[in-house]
Amino acid sequence: MSALLEARGLVKRFGGLVATDDLSLDVTPGECHAVIGPNGAGKSTLIAQLAGELASDAGTVRFDGREVSRLGMAARARLGLVRSFQITAVLPEFTVVENVALAVQARLGRHWGFWRRAADQPALQDPARRLIEEIGLGPRADMKARTLAHGEQRQLELAMALATKPKLLLLDEPMAGMGPEETRRMTGLLQQLKGRVAMLLVEHDMDAVFALADRVTVLVYGRAIATGAPAAIRADPAVVEAYLGT
Ligand code: ADP
Ligand code: MG
Repeated sequence: MSALLEARGLVKRFGGLVATDDLSLDVTPGECHAVIGPNGAGKSTLIAQLAGELASDAGTVRFDGREVSRLGMAARARLGLVRSFQITAVLPEFTVVENVALAVQARLGRHWGFWRRAADQPALQDPARRLIEEIGLGPRADMKARTLAHGEQRQLELAMALATKPKLLLLDEPMAGMGPEETRRMTGLLQQLKGRVAMLLVEHDMDAVFALADRVTVLVYGRAIATGAPAAIRADPAVVEAYLGT
Protein backbone atom coordinates (compact mmCIF):
# COMPACT_ATOMS: atom_id res chain seq x y z
CA MET A 1 0.00 0.00 0.00
CA SER A 2 1.39 3.44 -0.81
CA ALA A 3 2.26 5.53 2.18
CA LEU A 4 0.11 8.35 3.52
CA LEU A 5 3.15 9.86 5.23
CA GLU A 6 6.73 9.44 4.07
CA ALA A 7 9.47 11.01 6.14
CA ARG A 8 12.95 10.67 4.70
CA GLY A 9 16.28 11.51 6.27
CA LEU A 10 14.94 13.90 8.90
CA VAL A 11 17.54 15.69 10.96
CA LYS A 12 17.07 18.21 13.78
CA ARG A 13 20.01 19.68 15.65
CA PHE A 14 19.89 21.76 18.80
CA GLY A 15 23.34 23.32 18.91
CA GLY A 16 25.73 20.38 19.04
CA LEU A 17 23.02 17.89 19.92
CA VAL A 18 21.49 15.80 17.13
CA ALA A 19 17.91 15.16 18.31
CA THR A 20 16.78 13.32 15.16
CA ASP A 21 19.46 11.77 13.03
CA ASP A 22 18.66 10.72 9.46
CA LEU A 23 15.25 9.45 10.48
CA SER A 24 12.96 7.84 7.91
CA LEU A 25 9.51 6.44 8.58
CA ASP A 26 6.23 5.68 6.75
CA VAL A 27 2.64 5.64 7.89
CA THR A 28 0.17 3.85 5.60
CA PRO A 29 -3.51 4.87 5.38
CA GLY A 30 -5.40 3.71 8.46
CA GLU A 31 -2.26 2.46 10.17
CA CYS A 32 -1.46 2.99 13.83
CA HIS A 33 2.32 3.37 13.86
CA ALA A 34 3.82 3.66 17.33
CA VAL A 35 7.16 5.29 18.09
CA ILE A 36 8.83 4.20 21.30
CA GLY A 37 12.20 4.86 22.87
CA PRO A 38 13.91 6.17 25.98
CA ASN A 39 13.57 9.74 27.24
CA GLY A 40 15.48 12.14 25.03
CA ALA A 41 15.42 9.75 22.04
CA GLY A 42 13.89 12.45 19.82
CA LYS A 43 10.24 11.32 19.75
CA SER A 44 8.71 14.74 20.49
CA THR A 45 11.17 16.37 18.11
CA LEU A 46 10.06 13.99 15.35
CA ILE A 47 6.38 14.81 15.99
CA ALA A 48 7.15 18.55 15.90
CA GLN A 49 9.06 18.15 12.62
CA LEU A 50 6.19 16.19 11.07
CA ALA A 51 3.60 18.69 12.27
CA GLY A 52 5.58 21.58 10.82
CA GLU A 53 6.11 23.11 14.22
CA LEU A 54 9.90 22.71 14.04
CA ALA A 55 11.85 23.31 10.82
CA SER A 56 14.09 20.37 9.93
CA ASP A 57 17.81 20.80 9.24
CA ALA A 58 17.60 18.08 6.59
CA GLY A 59 15.11 15.62 5.16
CA THR A 60 11.73 15.67 3.47
CA VAL A 61 8.15 14.96 4.45
CA ARG A 62 5.56 13.84 1.91
CA PHE A 63 1.94 13.64 2.97
CA ASP A 64 -0.98 12.36 0.92
CA GLY A 65 1.00 12.63 -2.30
CA ARG A 66 2.47 16.09 -1.71
CA GLU A 67 5.72 17.46 -0.53
CA VAL A 68 4.91 19.35 2.69
CA SER A 69 8.45 19.90 3.99
CA ARG A 70 8.23 23.66 3.66
CA LEU A 71 4.67 24.09 4.89
CA GLY A 72 3.91 25.43 8.34
CA MET A 73 1.72 23.81 10.95
CA ALA A 74 -1.61 25.37 9.87
CA ALA A 75 -1.09 24.46 6.20
CA ARG A 76 -0.23 20.86 7.10
CA ALA A 77 -3.27 20.68 9.39
CA ARG A 78 -5.50 21.83 6.53
CA LEU A 79 -4.20 18.90 4.46
CA GLY A 80 -5.15 16.52 7.30
CA LEU A 81 -1.81 16.14 9.08
CA VAL A 82 -2.91 17.13 12.55
CA ARG A 83 -1.17 17.13 15.87
CA SER A 84 -3.42 16.54 18.85
CA PHE A 85 -2.94 18.19 22.21
CA GLN A 86 -1.46 21.29 20.70
CA ILE A 87 -3.07 22.59 17.53
CA THR A 88 -6.20 23.73 19.30
CA ALA A 89 -5.99 24.91 22.87
CA VAL A 90 -8.91 24.15 25.16
CA LEU A 91 -10.69 27.32 26.29
CA PRO A 92 -11.36 26.69 29.99
CA GLU A 93 -14.34 29.04 30.35
CA PHE A 94 -16.12 27.60 27.30
CA THR A 95 -18.24 24.47 27.53
CA VAL A 96 -17.16 21.14 26.06
CA VAL A 97 -19.57 21.51 23.15
CA GLU A 98 -18.47 25.11 22.50
CA ASN A 99 -14.82 24.05 22.39
CA VAL A 100 -15.54 21.28 19.90
CA ALA A 101 -17.83 23.54 17.87
CA LEU A 102 -15.01 26.05 17.54
CA ALA A 103 -12.69 23.31 16.30
CA VAL A 104 -15.37 22.35 13.72
CA GLN A 105 -15.55 26.01 12.75
CA ALA A 106 -11.80 26.10 12.25
CA ARG A 107 -12.15 23.18 9.81
CA LEU A 108 -15.04 24.75 7.93
CA GLY A 109 -13.13 28.02 7.78
CA ARG A 110 -16.26 29.97 8.65
CA HIS A 111 -16.21 33.16 10.62
CA TRP A 112 -19.26 34.27 12.47
CA GLY A 113 -17.47 36.93 14.42
CA PHE A 114 -18.02 36.60 18.11
CA TRP A 115 -16.84 33.14 19.18
CA ARG A 116 -19.51 32.23 21.66
CA ARG A 117 -22.23 33.09 19.17
CA ALA A 118 -20.40 31.05 16.55
CA ALA A 119 -20.38 28.09 18.91
CA ASP A 120 -24.20 28.28 19.11
CA GLN A 121 -24.73 27.76 15.37
CA PRO A 122 -26.54 24.43 14.73
CA ALA A 123 -24.19 23.75 11.79
CA LEU A 124 -21.36 23.62 14.31
CA GLN A 125 -23.23 22.30 17.36
CA ASP A 126 -24.67 19.21 15.68
CA PRO A 127 -21.39 17.69 14.48
CA ALA A 128 -19.77 18.79 17.75
CA ARG A 129 -22.38 16.96 19.86
CA ARG A 130 -22.04 13.84 17.72
CA LEU A 131 -18.28 13.83 18.25
CA ILE A 132 -18.65 14.41 21.98
CA GLU A 133 -21.03 11.43 22.26
CA GLU A 134 -18.66 9.29 20.27
CA ILE A 135 -15.71 10.22 22.45
CA GLY A 136 -17.68 9.40 25.60
CA LEU A 137 -18.04 12.94 26.94
CA GLY A 138 -21.80 13.16 26.34
CA PRO A 139 -22.70 13.76 30.01
CA ARG A 140 -20.13 16.60 30.16
CA ALA A 141 -21.22 18.37 26.94
CA ASP A 142 -22.60 21.49 28.62
CA MET A 143 -20.04 21.80 31.39
CA LYS A 144 -17.20 24.30 31.29
CA ALA A 145 -13.96 22.74 30.12
CA ARG A 146 -12.14 23.82 33.29
CA THR A 147 -14.37 21.54 35.41
CA LEU A 148 -13.21 18.38 33.59
CA ALA A 149 -10.91 15.81 35.15
CA HIS A 150 -7.47 15.44 33.57
CA GLY A 151 -8.41 12.39 31.51
CA GLU A 152 -11.62 14.06 30.30
CA GLN A 153 -9.61 17.09 29.24
CA ARG A 154 -7.46 14.81 27.09
CA GLN A 155 -10.64 13.27 25.62
CA LEU A 156 -11.87 16.76 24.80
CA GLU A 157 -8.56 17.58 23.10
CA LEU A 158 -8.90 14.41 21.06
CA ALA A 159 -12.45 15.38 20.06
CA MET A 160 -11.16 18.82 19.01
CA ALA A 161 -8.44 17.25 16.87
CA LEU A 162 -11.00 14.90 15.30
CA ALA A 163 -13.29 17.85 14.55
CA THR A 164 -10.72 18.99 12.00
CA LYS A 165 -11.22 15.65 10.11
CA PRO A 166 -7.58 14.58 10.11
CA LYS A 167 -6.17 11.87 7.85
CA LEU A 168 -3.25 11.37 10.20
CA LEU A 169 -3.26 12.18 13.90
CA LEU A 170 0.08 12.83 15.58
CA LEU A 171 -0.24 11.86 19.24
CA ASP A 172 2.57 12.67 21.67
CA GLU A 173 2.01 10.65 24.83
CA PRO A 174 -1.78 10.87 25.02
CA MET A 175 -1.82 8.83 28.25
CA ALA A 176 0.75 11.00 30.07
CA GLY A 177 -0.33 11.79 33.60
CA MET A 178 -3.30 9.42 33.47
CA GLY A 179 -4.20 6.81 36.04
CA PRO A 180 -4.86 3.18 35.03
CA GLU A 181 -8.60 3.72 34.53
CA GLU A 182 -8.15 6.83 32.36
CA THR A 183 -5.39 5.07 30.40
CA ARG A 184 -7.72 2.15 29.70
CA ARG A 185 -10.45 4.52 28.57
CA MET A 186 -8.12 6.46 26.24
CA THR A 187 -6.73 3.19 24.83
CA GLY A 188 -10.31 2.07 24.12
CA LEU A 189 -11.07 5.36 22.41
CA LEU A 190 -8.00 5.15 20.20
CA GLN A 191 -8.91 1.54 19.40
CA GLN A 192 -12.33 2.77 18.30
CA LEU A 193 -10.67 5.34 16.00
CA LYS A 194 -8.29 2.82 14.49
CA GLY A 195 -8.71 2.31 10.78
CA ARG A 196 -10.77 5.49 10.37
CA VAL A 197 -7.81 7.76 10.90
CA ALA A 198 -4.14 6.89 10.69
CA MET A 199 -2.11 7.56 13.84
CA LEU A 200 1.48 8.15 14.71
CA LEU A 201 1.51 7.36 18.40
CA VAL A 202 4.35 8.21 20.76
CA GLU A 203 3.61 6.49 24.04
CA HIS A 204 5.43 5.13 27.09
CA ASP A 205 2.61 2.83 28.19
CA MET A 206 3.69 -0.42 26.52
CA ASP A 207 0.35 -2.14 27.14
CA ALA A 208 -1.32 0.64 25.16
CA VAL A 209 1.34 0.52 22.43
CA PHE A 210 1.10 -3.22 21.94
CA ALA A 211 -2.72 -3.10 22.05
CA LEU A 212 -2.95 -0.38 19.40
CA ALA A 213 0.02 -0.47 17.06
CA ASP A 214 0.14 -2.18 13.68
CA ARG A 215 3.84 -1.36 13.53
CA VAL A 216 6.33 -0.05 16.02
CA THR A 217 9.47 2.00 15.37
CA VAL A 218 12.11 2.15 18.09
CA LEU A 219 14.12 5.37 18.40
CA VAL A 220 17.41 5.55 20.25
CA TYR A 221 19.55 8.70 20.16
CA GLY A 222 17.53 10.10 17.27
CA ARG A 223 17.91 7.02 15.09
CA ALA A 224 15.38 4.34 14.20
CA ILE A 225 17.03 1.09 15.32
CA ALA A 226 14.07 -1.14 14.37
CA THR A 227 10.65 -1.05 12.71
CA GLY A 228 8.25 -3.95 12.61
CA ALA A 229 5.14 -5.68 13.88
CA PRO A 230 4.72 -5.48 17.67
CA ALA A 231 5.55 -9.16 18.18
CA ALA A 232 8.77 -8.87 16.18
CA ILE A 233 9.78 -5.71 18.03
CA ARG A 234 9.20 -7.36 21.39
CA ALA A 235 11.44 -10.25 20.39
CA ASP A 236 14.22 -8.14 18.81
CA PRO A 237 17.33 -8.51 21.01
CA ALA A 238 18.67 -5.06 20.03
CA VAL A 239 15.36 -3.45 21.07
CA VAL A 240 15.20 -5.35 24.34
CA GLU A 241 18.74 -4.29 25.14
CA ALA A 242 18.27 -0.65 24.14
CA TYR A 243 14.86 -0.06 25.62
CA LEU A 244 12.41 -2.73 26.61
CA GLY A 245 14.78 -4.61 28.89
CA THR A 246 15.59 -1.61 31.04
P1 ADP B 1 11.75 12.50 23.66
O1 ADP B 1 10.45 13.09 23.29
O2 ADP B 1 12.06 11.20 22.95
O3 ADP B 1 11.92 12.32 25.13
P2 ADP B 1 12.85 14.99 22.67
O4 ADP B 1 12.54 14.99 21.23
O5 ADP B 1 12.02 15.82 23.55
O6 ADP B 1 12.94 13.48 23.20
O7 ADP B 1 14.36 15.46 22.86
C1 ADP B 1 15.43 14.93 22.10
C2 ADP B 1 16.72 15.61 22.53
O8 ADP B 1 16.70 16.95 22.08
C3 ADP B 1 16.91 15.67 24.04
O9 ADP B 1 18.28 15.52 24.32
C4 ADP B 1 16.42 17.05 24.39
O10 ADP B 1 17.06 17.53 25.54
C5 ADP B 1 16.80 17.86 23.16
N1 ADP B 1 15.89 18.98 22.89
C6 ADP B 1 14.57 18.89 22.60
N2 ADP B 1 14.03 20.09 22.37
C7 ADP B 1 15.06 20.99 22.51
C8 ADP B 1 15.15 22.41 22.39
N3 ADP B 1 14.08 23.15 22.06
N4 ADP B 1 16.35 22.98 22.60
C9 ADP B 1 17.43 22.24 22.91
N5 ADP B 1 17.41 20.89 23.04
C10 ADP B 1 16.25 20.26 22.84
MG1 MG C 1 8.75 13.63 24.40
